[in-house]
Amino acid sequence: MLRLPPFRMLAPATFAEASRRLRDLGPRASLMAGGTDLVPRFKRRQILPEVVVSLHRVKGSVGIRAEQDGLSIGAGTTLAQVASDPLISRYSALRQAAESAATPQIRSIATIGGNLCLPPRCSYYDRSALWRGAQGSCLRSGSGECHVAPGASRCMAVHSGDLAPALLALGARARLVCGSGERVIPIQELFVDDGIAPLAKKPEEVLAGIHIGRAEGRSVYLKLRRRSSFDYPSLGVAVSLESDGRARECRIALGGVGPAPVVAHDAGRLLVGGRLEPDVVAAAASVAARLVRPVENSDFTASYRKRMAAVFVARALNGLREPTGLS
Ligand SMILES: Cc1cc2nc3c(=O)[nH]c(=O)nc-3n(C[C@H](O)[C@H](O)[C@H](O)COP(=O)(O)OP(=O)(O)OC[C@H]3O[C@@H](n4cnc5c(N)ncnc54)[C@H](O)[C@@H]3O)c2cc1C
Repeated sequence: MLRLPPFRMLAPATFAEASRRLRDLGPRASLMAGGTDLVPRFKRRQILPEVVVSLHRVKGSVGIRAEQDGLSIGAGTTLAQVASDPLISRYSALRQAAESAATPQIRSIATIGGNLCLPPRCSYYDRSALWRGAQGSCLRSGSGECHVAPGASRCMAVHSGDLAPALLALGARARLVCGSGERVIPIQELFVDDGIAPLAKKPEEVLAGIHIGRAEGRSVYLKLRRRSSFDYPSLGVAVSLESDGRARECRIALGGVGPAPVVAHDAGRLLVGGRLEPDVVAAAASVAARLVRPVENSDFTASYRKRMAAVFVARALNGLREPTGLS
């Protein structure tokens, strides 16, 4: 059995206070929401925190609210709440992503904020301290070389959250609180293609919420995984489409393909102005799959995941084309 290391716990009442605590404590502190990812990392001794700054008492951090220009979701809202809230039903990709993540027990605790800030995963690094010790250190442990891509100059761990591609496809924005200030950024700008430092935010910045514009079209999220009741995405494809018979706007996002989820802008642009005819869908799918350069550090082989990227993009687009298809 892997035991938790000892730590002290603080429970601030606001995001601003949480941010100040993180700033004051520096690397001695870890920020915790539901703890479904963080606690296993403590047990694997990937982090040894002196202090945990928990968000569970932050006022107003939970909830989904309709606003004039769309929807806001508090960072502390659980995946189960996101999956079942009627306000999310018009954002199918987000609902499907939330209901496909992890297991019912985990979804009832795991938060949308924690899911977006989930560190990338690697089948070499995400093991017990004993296993990692036998294997030898790697870039992520601070020294040594990458075991999956020897010679690589940066860590290739894979972004494995389900919600990020869905929110990218929906053009969401993230609200970050830092001390008494805050900023709002397109969610795409939160992610960096670096397995060690995958988020473009200061360590003391706290994700307070997500904003999604009005649902003008339809969207879908498809997930490749070995066990449909449980596993992380080996590939996640989200597509949103606004169409009046001809596509007005189309955003295609892929997760599970590298340290950051990506938006296939060129593939989306190919579709604008036309109908989703089979040849155009195939061309867009192949352009989207060019962004995918997986390495052997996740479930399924890298070449299979790359091939499936094109298959899943085409499948998602075909589903959105049919009025009776995916909703
Ligand atoms: C068995 C298992 C299966 C899983 N399967 C899936 C899956 O299929 N799909 C999937 O997407 N995920 C999966 N997960 C991961 C799980 O969904 C995430 O762990 C969860 O969403 C994280 O949310 P949390 O609130 O528990 O975050 P925590 O564990 O508390 O935190 C996760 C990370 O985010 C940071 N963080 C949390 N909240 C904030 C915030 N507001 N601002 C800034 N940083 C923050 C923390 O510091 C930490 O680094 C699985 C986990 C387990 C244990």
